[in-house]
Amino acid sequence: NVFVVAVDGPAGSGKSSVSKAAAKQLGFAYLDTGAAYRALAWYLDDAGIDGGNTALVIASLPGFDYRIGTDPDEYFVLVGSTEVTDAIREPRISALVSQVARVPEVRTFVNNLFRTIIASTEKPGIVVEGRDITTVVAPDAPVRILLTASEEVRAARRGAELTGDAAKTAAEALAKRDRADSAVTEFMTAAEGVYTLDSTHLDFPATIAAVVER
Ligand code: C5P
Repeated sequence: NVFVVAVDGPAGSGKSSVSKAAAKQLGFAYLDTGAAYRALAWYLDDAGIDGGNTALVIASLPGFDYRIGTDPDEYFVLVGSTEVTDAIREPRISALVSQVARVPEVRTFVNNLFRTIIASTEKPGIVVEGRDITTVVAPDAPVRILLTASEEVRAARRGAELTGDAAKTAAEALAKRDRADSAVTEFMTAAEGVYTLDSTHLDFPATIAAVVER
């Protein structure tokens, strides 16, 4: 049986980098579930399909072929044979992803793959991160963590290289995405039995250590 570490949190909480680093230290696999939603948003955008058209989004699912690497040292995301690892991080895709993620059929589609990936993990464990991992994807995981940080700190970490208007725009986009996402998934407060790890006053190594210790 695979040991699952479930990590949820809002945008910019640092959960991707923390989860990946914790997986490396533990010798575990790493699954970035947000990448699946981002890959779908990229796929629809690339095909010229309006992500706001629910019927079209659902009809596109059978043709949506993607792969997410689960080795924390060799992380990649593919749609068909196109590597989209970096492209799916672009602000344009971040702005499109929430409307796709709110479609229940989309969530069922990607969750089925997540369960298959988790069950077939060859390493002793896997760190899975997203918005509904502690509640929906792996509610029975022995370790469940909600990674939070104050809105100011999250905006600063996300837009560390930005200044002035660009920083303000990035912070607004982040808050907008959290508002849209929290209508669909419960990640702003911890569900019962989920440990809240507030990284507002922790640096990166200390946050990783807190996850590994649990
Ligand atoms: O984690 P990340 O910011 O890359 O996630 C991108 C988007 O995917 C989120 O804004 C949310 O809309 C969606 N998502 C989700 N459920 C998850 C992971 C991500 O709805 N478990």
